[in-house]
Amino acid sequence: ELIELMRKGQCFVIQSVMPSSEASANTDPTVFHKRYLKQVRILGEGHFGKVTLYLYDPANDGKGEQVAVKSLKQENDKISDGWMKEIEILKSLYHSNIVKYKGCCTELGGQVVQLIMEYLPLGSLKDYLPKRNLPLSHCLMFAQQICQGMNYLHSKRYVHRDLAARNVLVENDSLVKIGDFGLTKYIPEGEIYYRVREDGDSPVFWYAIECLKESKFSFSSDVWSFGVTLYEILTRCDRRQSPPDVCHHRPLFQEAQGQMTVVILIKLLEQGLRLPCPKDSPHEVKILMERCWSADPSERPDFESLIKKFQSLHN
Ligand code: ADP
Ligand code: MG
Repeated sequence: ELIELMRKGQCFVIQSVMPSSEASANTDPTVFHKRYLKQVRILGEGHFGKVTLYLYDPANDGKGEQVAVKSLKQENDKISDGWMKEIEILKSLYHSNIVKYKGCCTELGGQVVQLIMEYLPLGSLKDYLPKRNLPLSHCLMFAQQICQGMNYLHSKRYVHRDLAARNVLVENDSLVKIGDFGLTKYIPEGEIYYRVREDGDSPVFWYAIECLKESKFSFSSDVWSFGVTLYEILTRCDRRQSPPDVCHHRPLFQEAQGQMTVVILIKLLEQGLRLPCPKDSPHEVKILMERCWSADPSERPDFESLIKKFQSLHN
């Protein structure tokens, strides 16, 4: 119960309000002290964030705990707001297919925090899949686990908005977890979509058609992105078949130099064009993937029904 309270209580507040009360901070397992964090190596970098592997070693005997630490690349008030939300969201999620929050680390004075999560040694699916030659049934098992994590996320009324192989982490050969909640938004009860206002770079090749046209993000637009993620898994994240690459090799993209990618992408999708079905996929998987990419969001399956489908497929 105490830990639960501490999780809810903001560790950065505890530290900034009472900088001298080391005693209380020492007993809070979610407070990480900067001086005990020893950098090991950089794990990955996205647009706004950077994730680094550290050894948290308060005893200074080299036996500490490995943790993944996410921080913002640049500090900026507008982004910083979303950053605190990302931390709050991850803090509130408990599921075996979602990366575990461990705590945070504050600069003296309570300034911007680093997010501490569990370290997943095998990296993202994008790092992992090309190196193995996973059989289809194994791929489908990963797909099902992603659906389980997404189903949980949706039950808490969050839309992820950035589901892609690069954001799915691998714990071991039989367990994957969803990570990167940087674009996640809460959808209030009774509403069905979230309209984004910020522009800037977005993972457009994973976006549903209504996201590209009207910036409407919903539970069903996550299902579309899941379809693209499934495509990535079935191509074993082969770079030459990556969604951006496949699109850029289409004649329309090559002719229309200078035109905005999004404009062409919308045109192609409106013509009914979709990513090709990966080679060894069974007919049922092909149908399922295509349903995730229905132009009409209400025709897309939800994650609960996808879980059942995968259960029957890989058993
Ligand atoms: P961004 O918001 O910048 O995209 P991510 O959270 O997606 O940041 O992390 C970027 C990359 O760092 C991931 O694609 C993955 O390769 C690596 N990474 C992130 N979190 C972890 C973790 N907990 N364990 C291992 N690697 C991770
Ligand atoms: Mg990412």
